[in-house]
Amino acid sequence: MDQQLDFAPCGYFSISDTGIIHSANQTFATMLAYERDELIGKHIESFMSMTNKLFFHTYFYPYMQLYGHVNEIYLSLQSSGRLDVPVLLNGVRQTRDGETFMDCVIVEMRRRLEHEKDVLATKQRLEHLVQETNETNHKLELLHQEYETKQRELMSVNLQLETLALTDPLTGLKNRRFFNESLLSHLSKFHRSGELFSIALIDIDRFKSINDTYGHPVGDLVLTDLARLLNTSSRETDVTARFGGEEFVILLAGADESQAVHVAERLRAAIEAATLGNLNITASIGVATITLEDTDDRLINKADQALYESKASGRNRVTHAMDLKAAE
Ligand code: GH3
Ligand code: MG
Ligand code: MG
Repeated sequence: MDQQLDFAPCGYFSISDTGIIHSANQTFATMLAYERDELIGKHIESFMSMTNKLFFHTYFYPYMQLYGHVNEIYLSLQSSGRLDVPVLLNGVRQTRDGETFMDCVIVEMRRRLEHEKDVLATKQRLEHLVQETNETNHKLELLHQEYETKQRELMSVNLQLETLALTDPLTGLKNRRFFNESLLSHLSKFHRSGELFSIALIDIDRFKSINDTYGHPVGDLVLTDLARLLNTSSRETDVTARFGGEEFVILLAGADESQAVHVAERLRAAIEAATLGNLNITASIGVATITLEDTDDRLINKADQALYESKASGRNRVTHAMDLKAAE
């Protein structure tokens, strides 16, 4: 064997059709930690584990017989110290001087296998990480959904509380607090754009005697019925509220003095004509229309004075604050 092949950077051996080693290079002998003489004449399978022998039988021999070559077979040989030597094998079957040989070259695969093991371990770690990330994401998503549901519930409870805080419990009308806020916003709108508005204070006449005569529950019924009447007779843009006790207030958006008096008179007549809590009642009304000198308190005060005038001049009537001035 010439030196180039003997020390080639791959193992080389040639076996007979029955697997007896006919020749081998030094590299092959070194790979298996044998002297070359110890290999020659031995069966190639005596340097293999049982599993590799089986594989050799079922694949290597039949393939060689059928196709005359094998390529890139992975198998493990055993060194003299019984250590596994993983190799990649190419072989070709050829005839020399009337005899058939199977010439094989092998390259050690240890590094590559270790590298593949590393790659596999890294891949498994990555897969594990991806799975953990997915699970965490799923948990996060559930938490997020829970948070959103709670948030919606909280918003709806807040809304209910807000509505409750601005509603009169007996009549279901808006309460004085809501009215005060609306009054302030209409006031600033008036200062911005000059849009007029009026308020009408409505106070039931001699209501105390209704309570005294028919009892408090009937009085409550009168208040509830009156609230419904006021609510159905006012426009969308108006604000109808219970001002306190047996007093109601309506903010008439866009109404000047004469329009406000007109609406108030219509309401007064409707109250007089209606049956509220099975009773006929009347109410006195005081009206005031916003002017540039007015604050919210001053406007309410003016309406209150007008109401007082309606009471003083016989009840069941409407007075506008401007007529008080004229009278002064
Ligand atoms: P006036 O014509 O001068 O307004 O006489 P009035 O009796 O209506 O006025 P007064 O202020 O003397 O009495 C108001 C009454 O309204 C006294 C109070 O018991 C009653 N009242 C206040 N709030 C309620 C309520 O929620 N339910 C009932 N049933 N009565 C109420
Ligand atoms: Mg009163
Ligand atoms: Mg009254």
